Amino acid sequence: MTRMIIAGRQVDAHDGRTIDVVSPVDGEVFTTIPRGQQADVDAAVQAARAALEGDWGRMTALERGRLLLRLGESVLAHHEELAQLEARDTGKPMSTARGDITVLARYFEFYGSAADKVHGQTIPFQKDYSVQLIREPLGVTAHIIPWNYPAQMFGRSVAPALAMGNASVVKPAEDACLSVIRVAELALEVGFPAGALNIVTGLGEEAGASLSRHHDINFITFTGSNEVGVLIQQAAAVNAVKCVLELGGKSAHIVFDDANYKLAIPAIVKGIVHNTGQTCTAGSRLLVQRGVYADFMKALADEFSKVRAGTPDMDLDCGPLVNQAQFDRVNRYIAKGLADGLTVVAEGGIADGVPAGGYFVKPTLFSAPTHDSSSLLTEEIFGPVLVAVPFDTEADAIRLANATDYGLLGAVWTENGGRQQRVARGIKCGQVYINGFGAGGGVELPFGGVKKSGHGREKGFIALEEMSTTKTLIQFYGE
Ligand code: NAP
Ligand code: MG
Repeated sequence: MTRMIIAGRQVDAHDGRTIDVVSPVDGEVFTTIPRGQQADVDAAVQAARAALEGDWGRMTALERGRLLLRLGESVLAHHEELAQLEARDTGKPMSTARGDITVLARYFEFYGSAADKVHGQTIPFQKDYSVQLIREPLGVTAHIIPWNYPAQMFGRSVAPALAMGNASVVKPAEDACLSVIRVAELALEVGFPAGALNIVTGLGEEAGASLSRHHDINFITFTGSNEVGVLIQQAAAVNAVKCVLELGGKSAHIVFDDANYKLAIPAIVKGIVHNTGQTCTAGSRLLVQRGVYADFMKALADEFSKVRAGTPDMDLDCGPLVNQAQFDRVNRYIAKGLADGLTVVAEGGIADGVPAGGYFVKPTLFSAPTHDSSSLLTEEIFGPVLVAVPFDTEADAIRLANATDYGLLGAVWTENGGRQQRVARGIKCGQVYINGFGAGGGVELPFGGVKKSGHGREKGFIALEEMSTTKTLIQFYGE
């Protein structure tokens, strides 16, 4: 049984209730977590507020930065243990889980060394006035994170918040929260004061909802579904607090007839099967110029059909989906694709010997005659399902790339420099890759969506601005 972290202590839910944690690999329960509710959220928010008024709030930026750096070191020292936990909880291949833990450490390194480098400004004003713009923490920050990359999302969300001197309350997803809890334990070990970082586990509609509408929080960051994102924004509106929303995407690769196949094909396959397609930035649409469509799809199909799903220890291209609901959802989409008349161009496989109760699906590559032939081209599937469609001109490519409600990422594959810029600038989204896709964790790179992919920016220095506020000091120094 795992416990949550409130006010520097490992605790059960106030009423002792728990939730079973199910392994995606075999569908069996392997541990329990506390089912935190309003009373537990109240305790966590109170602990965070007390930390701001106590030791944590008095620390200098340098001291906070040092603690974050120490936490980064501790994550690296516990790298294998954390990777095993992450893989057990999510079903990811071990190498994916290991990569995720490295990125987690990187968040603490990046923001630990940035903490004391956020400067204020002086502003020229009227005669005999000195005006300073100083940065201050927002206060108690609430972080509701999903199950697809629990460790990475935790680092992405919490490291900049702590660097800026906020005190945080985190509600991880009930499906995958073990690594997050372990890192919060490590934070206490390396010297974070009690209450600076609290973890409340529980159900989204209980602990998550209680946290997002709590009257004493000052900021919410949320990554997850659009449906819940709307609820979060409504809750933030009631308390007039700022929120950052990252709500997924339907990101398109655009492959022109001069694209470098050798670069593009492995990146496109990885971009949809990595993490079993359960990635907000998955490249889940493929637009290919008509002249090379047949040829490109044939080369892609060869590569795609080599993909294998297996258990974490098999360490193949991908694992199972996270839970029964996601398994049903992805299978529904595959059935819908067939019913809509899409052609299956290639399928990956499921390795021999995976347990019978696991949530494994066959990665599937579809071809569609036109972009409007199926909802699979516009809705987020969150599974290893890629749909390709041909286009004719550069203008068509941009129009189709923008033909969904989402706007998170895009990728342009062409050797033509002018076209690279025109298309990259034409796609309405928060990040565009040119002749590459999703390389590395991108801790340094501002990230976020437009349209229904959400608003606000995370990662990079910009997150330090999102997770702080300014105060203007206006001083008259004349006589
Ligand atoms: P979800 O419900 O939006 O879950 C995301 C987080 O929000 C989890 O921590 C969840 O807790 C919490 N939550 C749920 N209901 C809440 C509420 N009423 N108030 C406050 N917090 C709440 O997502 P899901 O149901 O797990 O997945 C459904 C779909 O969402 C996926 O298929 C995918 O399309 C999308 N999704 C996107 C991302 C992304 O990275 N953008 C991540 C996950 C899911 P519990 O999980 O404990 O309920
Ligand atoms: Mg949920």
